[in-house]
Amino acid sequence: MKIISLASGSTGNAYCAVSGSDAVLVDCGISDRELRRRLAKAGVAVKSVRAILFTHNHADHIKGVATFHRRSPGVLLLSNMMTAEAISAATGVDEEDFTVFENGQTFEIGPFSITAFSVPHDVPDAVGFTIEAGGFRYFHATDAGTVHTLLKWHLSRADAAVLEFNHDPAMLAGSDRPFPLKQRIAGPSGHLSNDDAAEAVRECASPRLKALALAHLSQECNVPHLAVDAANRALAEAGAEGVDVMALPADEITTVYDGESPQDA
Ligand SMILES: [Zn+2]
Ligand SMILES: [Zn+2]
Repeated sequence: MKIISLASGSTGNAYCAVSGSDAVLVDCGISDRELRRRLAKAGVAVKSVRAILFTHNHADHIKGVATFHRRSPGVLLLSNMMTAEAISAATGVDEEDFTVFENGQTFEIGPFSITAFSVPHDVPDAVGFTIEAGGFRYFHATDAGTVHTLLKWHLSRADAAVLEFNHDPAMLAGSDRPFPLKQRIAGPSGHLSNDDAAEAVRECASPRLKALALAHLSQECNVPHLAVDAANRALAEAGAEGVDVMALPADEITTVYDGESPQDA
């Protein structure tokens, strides 16, 4: 599987998993034009994209969907029911154009076997995903207010992970942001801090884990090296070795992992 971040953070999120000649996107939070440009630059043909999986309905995860769907109606739009309703209301995409999944039920798209799991966030029904192909498991969770057991279970089985490291708690507390916004971000349905995410990594990094991408970094309340330091400390405490750690830039294409699954070889 190859995993690529096309955009990560509050200005837009889009990620891509490729297996053989098939691809799925996670979120579509940049413009259609920019999404197509970045896919081309990353070497992913739009015609190989089978589906877009949606984590939730915030604008930074759905911005490009209406135009993308109009231009490429054959690409499945996949989400749970409440997210489909909310995206439809926000973008005008017909609710019937969504293929709806149930959280916790595994479904197949081409070579991918996909399971969504609930994460607490301030929208109706946000999720993270495990995306598996050829025995390789890609864990994906951003916009998760709290690390809970289900998220940890999925993370503990991952070969590669994209995990939210949103903010440094001290930088958030010391920022000029209004108090209610600080509370929202740090609250149980907001975003994972470096400490929250590092704790999850410390508990859950398994010997399988090969790549850890730190996602959805706040531009005002985090610095890549703080997030990377927190992740590296957590991996060391977990005894995990040889894990490729990277902080994802907001606006640049980044390869999170590029390797062949045993069955691809
Ligand atoms: Zn977001
Ligand atoms: Zn969100």
